[in-house]
Amino acid sequence: MIKLLKYLKPYTGLVIAVVVLMFIQAMTELYLPAIMSDIIDIGVASGDTNFIFKMGGIMLIIAGVGTICAIVGCYLSSKVGMSFSRDLRHKVFTKVENFSLNEFDQKGTSSLITRTTNDITQVQNVLITILKMLLRAPLMVIGGIIMAVAQDIKLSLAIIIVLVVFLTFIVFIAKKSVKLYDTMQKKLDKLNLVLRERLTGIRVIRAFNTMKFEKTRFNKANLDLTDTAIKVNKLMAILLPLLIFIMNLTIIIVFWIGAIRINEGALLVGDLMAFIQYTMGIMYALTSIIMMFALIPRASASAKRVKEVIDMQPNIMDPEQPIRLINKKGQVEFKDVSFIYQGAEKPALRHISFSAKPGEVTAIIGGTGSGKSTLVNLIPRFYDVVSGSVLIDGIDVRQMRQEDIRESIGLVPQKAVLFSGTVAENIVFGYKKATKEEMMHAAEIAQASEFISSMKKGYNAIISQGGTNISGGQKQRLSIARALIRKPSIYIFDDSFSALDFRTDAKLRQALQKEILDSTVIIVAQRVTSVMGADRIIVLDNGEMAGIGTHKELLSSCEVYREIVSSQLSEEGIA
Ligand code: ADP
Ligand code: MG
Repeated sequence: MIKLLKYLKPYTGLVIAVVVLMFIQAMTELYLPAIMSDIIDIGVASGDTNFIFKMGGIMLIIAGVGTICAIVGCYLSSKVGMSFSRDLRHKVFTKVENFSLNEFDQKGTSSLITRTTNDITQVQNVLITILKMLLRAPLMVIGGIIMAVAQDIKLSLAIIIVLVVFLTFIVFIAKKSVKLYDTMQKKLDKLNLVLRERLTGIRVIRAFNTMKFEKTRFNKANLDLTDTAIKVNKLMAILLPLLIFIMNLTIIIVFWIGAIRINEGALLVGDLMAFIQYTMGIMYALTSIIMMFALIPRASASAKRVKEVIDMQPNIMDPEQPIRLINKKGQVEFKDVSFIYQGAEKPALRHISFSAKPGEVTAIIGGTGSGKSTLVNLIPRFYDVVSGSVLIDGIDVRQMRQEDIRESIGLVPQKAVLFSGTVAENIVFGYKKATKEEMMHAAEIAQASEFISSMKKGYNAIISQGGTNISGGQKQRLSIARALIRKPSIYIFDDSFSALDFRTDAKLRQALQKEILDSTVIIVAQRVTSVMGADRIIVLDNGEMAGIGTHKELLSSCEVYREIVSSQLSEEGIA
């Protein structure tokens, strides 16, 4: 929590203003009972109306000043709190944007979202509370005690006993509520998790008819949270009436003892009134201090989670003196590359060496989990190799700026991701400056123009969040168009034809061939028919290269390839 406070620095002036304003407000609050006691003891006692009006006027002015200070102070403290959290959110967001896929694997996307939203809000709320009470509450307690003692020492001693009882009671409740709030937070997290999983997986849940099971799972988490919330609120419900009860009890005690003191002639009526106000002030201040301390553990847990993100060092960074490619040809070369995912048991890739030349098609084939996606993800430097090197035009990708590398790559990921917006926006995403003709051309090649024109609004049709309103194959074709429009020197198609029917697949590859003449093309595929025509086929098996060559060469030399071919051709033969 403390460490995050350095982001308050730009607002130092405002923070000081808030503290000073709240301080002045507290001073007025401390001073008012003293004037009141004078009005009673001097003005009312002697029947001096002028004095009463004069002092009353002063009281009004002081109270007015106090009120204005309180209003401005509250406004400024909210402003500081909000600006602070805005800066922090910005900080976390830019940090996360620079993360490599490794960090996303580590923290999880949804956790990064809660850290940017909910956790920062928690910190912000406590910050605002603290700002408002920083000087004010201690001043009210200490000042209140001094002023009370000044009225009557004996009465003050009696009150101390009441205060001690009061304090133990508050601390007890605060401790208990902190614990309950803690469990409540955990249960809320749990509920979020269940809900998120259920909502994203709704299709699967429906398909497998597990709605009942999921419902009980949700209900359980929901009831669990409700139980704890009710407990907390019960505690809070008792708290307020009890506080008021104790305060009123205190007033009775003060009046009781005060009346005796007045009879003895040791105390004036006005002083007694002032005394009561001070006692109330002290009690309020104490309550708020303790409540603040009760809030802090929650906020500091949140602060810790936020700090974790800010402190994380992305392990893929641009070199200090990057080499810039002047004439991009797009030759890709793997030199004895091995790779292992963080925390994985065995390497996903072992000793991969090959080179993919411009103007040629290099295909990668292999079973699921053989490391195909991992291999192509190393080219844009989504991950860093563990040994060996990945070169583009003879330069190690670790020596280039990530932006430069990715600029020359048109990647069609295995899982087509579209953004909410229109069809046109999604295609042009690949190259913002594209003209309308270029966009339509890209769609044409990707075999997307047909289904786009069949949509009611054509290129202006709306794609919903995550592209759920179009089919898998349509999504793939749009994401292919998005890559084509960039006219990059390296094309990477990661299993991008899998959701297409054979006819569209063939038509698309034919159209592509004319389009990507002198680019380097890397195609990952499961189907033999998709790779047969390639200049070079790499056969991956369990992260290792089982063979490399043309279709013909591999048929005679590579056992794994033969197996793949025979299994698929017979399947198609049956079909
Ligand atoms: P393919 O694309 O050939 O189906 P992948 O390259 O996706 O295979 O995966 C290769 C291996 O690496 C698999 O065993 C998979 O479990 C593992 N793997 C893939 N992605 C990750 C990841 N982000 N973290 C850890 N292991 C992963
Ligand atoms: Mg894959």
